[in-house]
Amino acid sequence: MSALTSVIGFPRIGSNRELKRSIESYWKGTSTLEDMQTTARELRKKHWLLQQGAGVDLIPSNDFSYYDQLLDTSILLGAIPQRYRRLSLDAEDTLFAMGRGYQGERGDVTALPMKKWFTTNYHYLVPEIDDSEEIKLNSTKPFDEFNEAKKLGIITKPVLIGPYTFLKLARRPEGAPLTFDKGLVNAVARVYAQVLTKFAELGATWVQFDEPYLVLDKQDGDLELFKSLYAKILPARDSDNGSVKVLLQTYFGHIADIYETVNLFEFDGVGLDFIEGRNDNLAALKKFGVAQRTTIFAGIVNGRNIWRNDYADSLGVLDAVKQITDRVAVSTGCSLLHVPFSVEGEQGLQPEVRRHFAFAVEKLHEIEEIAALSDLDEAALKDSHELADNQALFDGHRVEADSNVAKRIEALHSSDFTRLPERKERQSEQREELGLPLLPTTTIGSFPQTREIRAERAQFRKHEISEEQYDSFIKQHIDEVLEKQERIGLDVLVHGEFERNDMVEYFGQHLNGFLFTKNAWVQSYGTRCVKPPIVWSDVSRAQPITVAWSAYAQSRTTRLVKGMLTGPVTILNWSWPREDVSHQLQTTQLALAIRDEVLDLEDAGIKVIQIDEAALREKLPLRRSDWHKLYLDWAIPAFRLVHSGVKPTTQIHTHMCYSEFNDIIRDIDAMDADVISFEASRSDLTVLDAIHDAHFETEAGPGVYDIHSPRIPSQEEIEARIDEILDKMEAPSVWINPDCGLKTRGDAETWPSLEHMVAAAHAVRARL
Ligand code: GLN
Ligand code: ZN
Repeated sequence: MSALTSVIGFPRIGSNRELKRSIESYWKGTSTLEDMQTTARELRKKHWLLQQGAGVDLIPSNDFSYYDQLLDTSILLGAIPQRYRRLSLDAEDTLFAMGRGYQGERGDVTALPMKKWFTTNYHYLVPEIDDSEEIKLNSTKPFDEFNEAKKLGIITKPVLIGPYTFLKLARRPEGAPLTFDKGLVNAVARVYAQVLTKFAELGATWVQFDEPYLVLDKQDGDLELFKSLYAKILPARDSDNGSVKVLLQTYFGHIADIYETVNLFEFDGVGLDFIEGRNDNLAALKKFGVAQRTTIFAGIVNGRNIWRNDYADSLGVLDAVKQITDRVAVSTGCSLLHVPFSVEGEQGLQPEVRRHFAFAVEKLHEIEEIAALSDLDEAALKDSHELADNQALFDGHRVEADSNVAKRIEALHSSDFTRLPERKERQSEQREELGLPLLPTTTIGSFPQTREIRAERAQFRKHEISEEQYDSFIKQHIDEVLEKQERIGLDVLVHGEFERNDMVEYFGQHLNGFLFTKNAWVQSYGTRCVKPPIVWSDVSRAQPITVAWSAYAQSRTTRLVKGMLTGPVTILNWSWPREDVSHQLQTTQLALAIRDEVLDLEDAGIKVIQIDEAALREKLPLRRSDWHKLYLDWAIPAFRLVHSGVKPTTQIHTHMCYSEFNDIIRDIDAMDADVISFEASRSDLTVLDAIHDAHFETEAGPGVYDIHSPRIPSQEEIEARIDEILDKMEAPSVWINPDCGLKTRGDAETWPSLEHMVAAAHAVRARL
């Protein structure tokens, strides 16, 4: 019998984003709750059967979610803040109110804050624990889904976000930190123990607790927290009504600093990531061994890339683990939530290209093949054509290198990474040149993309309309959006980004070196999905990309129009990067391409240029000791390379999303932009303290309202927000803007919201 195989989690959105469509149609009122629930049930069934068909032994359940699995966990534990309970909505609508805010007959509440899930582009809703909440088992979702699969004849492995990760990610109201008092810890442990008891009763064999937070640096009290939780929970795996095995699942890095303790607990399974945490996890296993009762779930099939697995490499890892214990299961490295559904639909890619890819469905087969191969002896392995076929994918060079790109990189000098004169001096020259008022108002770049706009772009792509028709269509939209921005009185205008489907894909399409998929969607938050392009070979710019649109927009107004680019780090982080060359090299290639674009925009008369680094924080390594040497030491210089060639009077902006960047505030200042806008409205405002304490020099626009929610903020609300900002920052360095681009919003909420924002800025300005 070959090794046990396990999948940590499976994408839930559906092969054709059926879940997204169904939920959004329910929100719009064009379908019913029952319709949505039916779609959800069908998808779960399909995904379980798929995994069963592939031969997976431990198939996850409860990895399904209507919005976010951490939000489900909050609800499971009864951590539903009073403001949502007070709306007295039914279960699904309460969930959606927490996820996206609610504005209607029953009240007006903002959504829970949203944050990036570790180093992924998935976003979770931050659990909020207030004193009025009683932590208790509050939902039957995990049990219902287990039973649903059981009826289909599949005994699944229920998956829950573990208590340690839940508590470490939870906050008090207003974003205040949580203290882990005994009462709270016991209450949470009690719920998880109840869950185990219940699953033992229902006939589950394994339950998986996801504890990715264990791969982070430990703070005082963390070890005790972990111990006191699991000391109370684990005894519940055996009860009079049956017993169930517990898999402690970690991912996104190593747990070497707590492995000894974990091992002492004798979990039935410990899931370790041998992709991102390989060396440290192996070293920990060697040092402390593996408890008698424990199976090591070796995470070797990457849940975060789209490339085929290198079997020889994976088998090497399995061998190394087998030297320590013979109880080894083969697993994904993390949930497959972070990869697209299947390569099958990608017939647009050449077969010799496509064979290098493995999405979720293909990864299931890889797990099975690796498990089978791992049982073969050396002689049989030599004869294995599966192994030989796989090896052929990795032999030799996949693509030719571009010698021009290589030469340009070789010629770079340290002065290419430094903009002169110093920022202080530039800022005062810019003030003179640009003539902006105090608290200048602007937006982040995109404006609502209606169905009509998307349809027009699609028609152009399919050559159904001529380039002239398309150009005049986009120009008409630019004219309209400029006119509206002027009318409501914004200071720095944007052209609206109507020509862009997506801030990364658009640039990928205009650069050499990228490939695109038709249907490779990945969930980003709620029903939002992204379709990252693929870096396939060396990157360079063929010709100007955005210059004509920005120049056109600037020619239509006497106000300043901001040029709009995506930065190199974000392009890489929101693409599928190559694995045959370093991220640093790919980012530098991108930086040179975008640098050319910046200089061309400047030549075309654009005086303000925004280079979005929305995803800069995303790939910051989880362990602090890796931050600089593995990432910031090249990511920050790459950004500087993009803009170091402009005149002192050209104002360089950047923008970041959902960033918790308190701890890298100095590195962000060192990007040497003149202005930064960032998300702040939906996370706590502690970043303002950080700006204050760090003597941040970049002028900054902390978002004054949340664009991820359809609700319209009032003028008073925004004024109050601006006052909060002015408590911490000097007025001359403050900008007023929403927290992100408006592309996913409708006109109905966008324009009143912006009017309130401008009115609020004017009102505060008058009092200064
Ligand atoms: N300029 C982009 C926009 O406005 C930025 C989007 C983002 O930060 N995610 O859409
Ligand atoms: Zn943003």
